[in-house]
Amino acid sequence: MSGTSYTYSQQLMGTTVSLKLFVENLTAVSAVFNAIEKLEARLTVNRYHSEVMSINHAAGKQPVAVSKLVFDLICKAKAASLLPDSKFNLAIGPLVKLWKIGFNGHSIPEKDEIARRLTLTNPHHIELNRTNQTVYLAKAGMEIDLGAIAKGYIADIIKLLLAQYNIFQAIINCGGNVLTIGYSPITADKQWHIGLKRPFAEANNLLGIIHVEDKSVVTSGIYERYFIFNDQLYHHILDPHTGYPLNNELHSVTIISDNSLTGDIYSTIFYGLGIRQGLSELKKKQNIGVIFVTRDKKIIIQSNQHFTFELTADDYQLISYS
Ligand code: FAD
Ligand code: MG
Repeated sequence: MSGTSYTYSQQLMGTTVSLKLFVENLTAVSAVFNAIEKLEARLTVNRYHSEVMSINHAAGKQPVAVSKLVFDLICKAKAASLLPDSKFNLAIGPLVKLWKIGFNGHSIPEKDEIARRLTLTNPHHIELNRTNQTVYLAKAGMEIDLGAIAKGYIADIIKLLLAQYNIFQAIINCGGNVLTIGYSPITADKQWHIGLKRPFAEANNLLGIIHVEDKSVVTSGIYERYFIFNDQLYHHILDPHTGYPLNNELHSVTIISDNSLTGDIYSTIFYGLGIRQGLSELKKKQNIGVIFVTRDKKIIIQSNQHFTFELTADDYQLISYS
C-alpha cells in the first residue's frame, strides 16, 4: 500500500462532500458521487420533488408508497424520535421550514406560529405500513425532515459501494459526518487523525485530534448554521417541545461509532440530552464514544475505548472518563 492519497470533492447536500482514497480509481469515484447525487435527490426536503417530499405533499390526504431504502430510514428515524427523552424528531419539518436557519430568509417567527406548527410535529402521527411500504402523515401540514440523519445513512451506503470496488481504506466526509474505512496507510499508528473543530473559528482551527480506526465520527454543532439577532444566537437544532433552538451548555457533540447512521442519530440525541444525562446514558451504550464541547471551554470525553483524543487547544480543559 503506497502512501499516496487522492482526494475528490463535490458540492452536494448543501455542503462539500469529499472522498479520500489511496488508490487511483476514477470509476469508483464517479460511482460514489453519482450515488450520493441520486440518494440526495430521493431524501432531500430542499427541492419540490423527492421521495420524501412526495410523502410531505400528501400529508393529511393519503399514504404514499416509497422505496425500501427510504422506508427503512424513516422507520429508524421514527424509532429514534420515540426513544425516552429523545429530542430528535423526524416530524420537525414544519419548524425547520419556518425558521429557515442556514438558508436564505431566516428570521425569528411569531410565537403563535411556532405554537401552531408544534401541533404538526407529533412523530406518533407518522403512520408506517410495513406490508405496503407506505408512509402517511396524518395531519395536513406535517413534514418529515431527515436533515439530521440522511448524511450518515448515505455515508454507510458509500462504504458498501466502495467495497464493491475492493476499496477498504478511505475517508468519506459529508461535512460534519466523517466515515473512516479500514486503517490509515499514511500514519505511523495506522489510525486516522480527525480534527475536532474549534467552535465559531476557521475550519483549520482545531481543539484537538481524534484518533480512530474504521469508525464514524459525526459532529452536531451550533456553530455552522445559525444567525444572531439582538445578541442572541439562534442555531439549527430545534427543541421539539418548545419549537425554539435547543438551549443548553453545549457548542457541539461528536459521536464515535461503527456506522455513521448511528453516529448521526446519537449526535443529535446527545446534543439534546446534555452532559449529565448524556454521560449516564453512555454507560448503557458501550458501542459509542462521545466528545462534548461546552460553551465554557470544557471538552468532556467518554471514549468507551472507541478512540483516543489529543488536546491541542491550551485554553480548553479536558475532562476524560473511560
Ligand atoms: P444535525 O445536528 O445532524 O441535524 C440538524 C438538522 O436536522 C437541522 O438542520 C434540521 O434540518 C434538522 N433538525 C433540527 N432540529 C431537529 C430535531 N430536534 N430532530 C431532528 N432533526 C432536527 N442544505 C442546504 O443549505 N441546501 C441544500 O440544498 C441541502 N440539501 C440537503 C439534502 C440532503 C439529502 C441532506 C441530508 C441535507 C441537505 N442540506 C442542505 C443540509 C440540511 O439542511 C441540514 O442543514 C444538514 O443536514 C444538517 O446536518 P448536520 O449534521 O449539520 O446537523
Ligand atoms: Mg445528526
